Amino acid sequence: MKQVVIATKNKGKAKDFEAIFAPLGYEVLTLFDVAPDMEIEETGTTFEENAILKAETLAKQLNTFVIADDSGLQIDALNGEPGVYSARYAGDHDDEANISKVLNNLEGVPEAKRTARFCCCLAITGPEHKTKTVFGTCEGVILTEKRGDNGFGYDPIFYVPTLGRTMAEMTAEEKGSISHRGNALRKLADELPSWFK
Ligand code: IMP
Repeated sequence: MKQVVIATKNKGKAKDFEAIFAPLGYEVLTLFDVAPDMEIEETGTTFEENAILKAETLAKQLNTFVIADDSGLQIDALNGEPGVYSARYAGDHDDEANISKVLNNLEGVPEAKRTARFCCCLAITGPEHKTKTVFGTCEGVILTEKRGDNGFGYDPIFYVPTLGRTMAEMTAEEKGSISHRGNALRKLADELPSWFK
C-alpha cells in the first residue's frame, strides 16, 4: 500500500486523515511512526505559517515528502477567536476546557449570531520541491451544548446545517466528505500520486 506521512501527533486529526486517505489507497503514517521524539513548536501567527513550519521541519529531518495540517475554529461573534490558538485556547490541548471556554464566551449570543467556520491549511513539501499550500473551510453554527461522541476538539459543539448534525454525530467518513480538512485535501488529490508512490 502507498504511504503518506502527516506531520502530526494529534490522534483525532490522524483518524480524520485515515478516513480521507483510505479510499484513495494510502496508509497514513504520523509523527508517532516516523519521528516519535520530535516536537515542533507552532510559532507562526497564521494557519499557513504553522503548516509550512511543520511540513518543512519534518521533511528536512526525514528527507521525504510530508503533509502538515494547521487548523482551527473561527467564531464570528468572538472576532475570529480562537483561530490559530484553537488547540491552546483554555490551556494545553484540553478539548473539554476549550469547549467550556467557547460556550462561556458565547453565553447569551442568539443562534443567528453563533456562526463559525473550521479552517485548515495543508502544506506539502519534499526534497528539491517548493512547498505548496492549500486551504479548506467548513461553515457551521456553535450550539449551546455538546452533541455526539465522535471526532475530537470542538466537534461536539460544531453543527453543520447542511447535514443537520454536529461533527461529533458524523462518522469519520461523513466528516471527511464536508470538513475543512477534506475540502483542503481534495484540492491536492490530483497531485498526490506524483508525491507519494
Ligand atoms: P493545531 O492545528 O495542531 O494547531 O490544532 C488545531 C486545533 O483546532 C485542534 O486541537 C482542535 O482544537 C481544533 N480543530 C482543528 N480541526 C478540528 C476538527 O476537525 N474538529 C474539531 N476541532 C478541530
